[in-house]
Amino acid sequence: MYNIHGNSEDMAKDTDSIIIYGAGLAGMVAGINLARAGARVTIYDREPSIGGSSQVHPSIHTTPLQPEKTWDYIGMDLSECFAPTGEYPAFWYNAKRITLPPYVNNAKAYNVERGHRKSSIDIRLQDMALDAGVKFSFGRELSPGELKNAPPGSIIATGLYKEVYELTGVDYSTTYGYLSTIPWEPGDVSGAIHMGTFSVDYGYTASLNGIMFGLLFSRRPLVDHDLERFTGVLGKARGIEFRKWGTFTGYFPRETRLFWGDKILAGTLSGMIEPFWGYGIVGALISGKVASLALTDRRKAEADFARFTAGFSTKLARKESLDRMPFNKQLLRLGILKARFACWRNPALGKAVKEPVRWFK
Ligand SMILES: Cc1cc2nc3c(=O)[nH]c(=O)nc-3n(C[C@H](O)[C@H](O)[C@H](O)COP(=O)(O)OP(=O)(O)OC[C@H]3O[C@@H](n4cnc5c(N)ncnc54)[C@H](O)[C@@H]3O)c2cc1C
Repeated sequence: MYNIHGNSEDMAKDTDSIIIYGAGLAGMVAGINLARAGARVTIYDREPSIGGSSQVHPSIHTTPLQPEKTWDYIGMDLSECFAPTGEYPAFWYNAKRITLPPYVNNAKAYNVERGHRKSSIDIRLQDMALDAGVKFSFGRELSPGELKNAPPGSIIATGLYKEVYELTGVDYSTTYGYLSTIPWEPGDVSGAIHMGTFSVDYGYTASLNGIMFGLLFSRRPLVDHDLERFTGVLGKARGIEFRKWGTFTGYFPRETRLFWGDKILAGTLSGMIEPFWGYGIVGALISGKVASLALTDRRKAEADFARFTAGFSTKLARKESLDRMPFNKQLLRLGILKARFACWRNPALGKAVKEPVRWFK
């Protein structure tokens, strides 16, 4: 029924039994679509249960989202998992609130919970997957031996963890971070992005479902002093006190790739992440659908993947050259001013950056 090679002469391995590695967003969206189309799907994950690593989750993520177009494309409505933040996340530079004119009022951001709690998108997707007949097997890791024996057409959707980048040779860069969670007012849904001299990327806070999540991340190594400055800003400017911070290391792809030999890559591992800001939630959901198409309609999968990842290399190069500049944290401030001025001068540019991540044009 499913044919990785995509033409009838080359049907080396037809199968209606599919293995997916990684029970995250991309893996589960792929699994649900394939199971609904009649395949027997098993999803393996190295963790003991759904919800990814307990060192990272529960966590709240903020993302731009085009709800109707996204649900329509992925074939499922996940609107109950996403809550609008009210404003396109509030932007701060150190302890000062800043306005990025083209972004506000036009783009909409949403918060979503990841992890093992009932209120998370992971549990919602798992319920949908079980309803569709998907089987799960936990505590099973994609190792070199496992990869060698995985049948053609297996989908690899293991997220931003290092091991599988190394196994597959997908080029990646390292991201360093600190993260923390505290109990918060249950009805509050807020998102804020903090740029400043503590990171070449940014820190953010996001609240939903009674928790406030904070993350400081940077594609250049962070030192304790950076965290002190970030927590100082949060305390001074917003009165938020995170008590205990854990460290976090993640891995961003530096290339986009849908096929790896006779296997299919999905989610962050395939490059379906916005390379400048690092928004990965919606890309992962969309990518799950693309991965399922790779088994049912390879041509459409390739065309859609090319469309969704267009511009990745240019954006990444722009970001990496900014990160390499000396005094880049201060330059970031100038960069923001320059971007505001350029958008004001040139309405077409302003229009183009209105919604920083529009997967559907
Ligand atoms: C701390 C943090 C904060 C983030 N904040 C935001 C944000 O605010 N907004 C945003 O848009 N994006 C954010 N992202 C990015 C976004 O969460 C990811 O891009 C997205 O979840 C990727 O989805 P995925 O399906 O590729 O992988 P995931 O959803 O991460 O799923 C991967 C799954 O694979 C499993 N796995 C890993 N390795 C193996 C292995 N070797 N064998 C078997 N299973 C394995 C994992 O346990 C996990 O369940 C954040 C990421 C992190 C880590």
